[in-house]
Amino acid sequence: MDLRILTVPGDGIGTEVTHEAVRVLERVCSRYGHQLHLTEALLGGIAIHKTGNPFPEETRKLALEADATLMGAVGLPEFDKMPPDKRPEKGLLGIRKALGVYANLRPVRTYSALIDSSPLKNHLVEGTDMIIVRELTGGIYYGTPRGITGEGTQAHAVNTMAYTYDEIARILRMAFQLARGRRKKLTSVDKSNVLECSQLWRKVVLEIAPEFPDVTLDHLLVDNCAMQLVLNPRRFDVLVTENMFGDILSDEGGVLAGSIGMLPSASLGDRRPSGAWVGLYEPVHGSAPDIAGQGKANPLGAIGSVAAMLEYSFGLKKEAAAVNAAIEQVLNSGRVTADLKPKGTPATTGEVGAAVCEAI
Ligand code: NAD
Repeated sequence: MDLRILTVPGDGIGTEVTHEAVRVLERVCSRYGHQLHLTEALLGGIAIHKTGNPFPEETRKLALEADATLMGAVGLPEFDKMPPDKRPEKGLLGIRKALGVYANLRPVRTYSALIDSSPLKNHLVEGTDMIIVRELTGGIYYGTPRGITGEGTQAHAVNTMAYTYDEIARILRMAFQLARGRRKKLTSVDKSNVLECSQLWRKVVLEIAPEFPDVTLDHLLVDNCAMQLVLNPRRFDVLVTENMFGDILSDEGGVLAGSIGMLPSASLGDRRPSGAWVGLYEPVHGSAPDIAGQGKANPLGAIGSVAAMLEYSFGLKKEAAAVNAAIEQVLNSGRVTADLKPKGTPATTGEVGAAVCEAI
């Protein structure tokens, strides 16, 4: 298979972890006989330095041409005081919008080698394996009217939560399809006892569910869901929810796995005629200026994002499974970075990347 991939390393540890993720991609392609065509583009702080724009036109063009995009992270402390339009993070929103990715997927699983670094008791968290699917382009973060009027004690703020039938239906269909490829269980999360948006959400779920008779559906109110994630995380297979609820629940789910450096993510848009999803893949973490350039960054979130890319954008399930198995093998070997608190000397970013390649 031909894999045309754009890499966007970005800033700080983004460049370090992307370097290792690319090594893993190269290893997978040579091991399984695929042709890898890589291009690289600028995004974030480095793009501002080189072009004055956090999301240069050239990056937009290359992202639209590629089969899939692999991103590191953006953000540099020197831009922290700049207005939102001049900040590296503007590039992130720009590339997501340009690709039309409307679903954010965060796989959350616990590895037995890391069970002690979870904040939950081992018996609660052991065996957790879920995907949180968050609607990414609608809801209260985008709805209008919005803003603050008045001053002092007369100030008044408003935000608007809004969803259309179609926005809800497309993400639900994606979530049902993902569930179908896993343990066939979908949990839809809403606040339909209070919000009209959630009442429409639940109505759409019930209308679409008959298209997927093989998937078991249940509903949870978001407050109960927040509780169930820590009381009984194993009960979840695929969890789907709207933008703001997903923002909050996916961070809660993320900490179950131990370190932020472990967490991959995939942002998906429409399906191509081939059946593959348009996708943007990135670790959940940021550019971590505190450890950048020191070889301390854990590359496993970025490498896990490669596994997600192989599965969702290319349908290469065997190759994705090989990457995930290699991650597990490296964790079991104890050759891990400092954030995972190894018993001996921590491995460097490059050593972990090399160990994953070796295991593949
Ligand atoms: P961060 O995720 O960069 O770092 C938080 C903490 O986790 C730090 O102590 C860091 O050292 C540690 N950490 C993060 N990733 C790690 C890894 N792979 N291995 C080991 N330790 C790791 O979050 P932050 O400090 O809040 O943000 C730093 C910059 O990153 C900011 O400019 C922020 O805007 C940006 N950011 C970007 C993204 C993105 O590009 N998707 C996401 C979050 C934050």
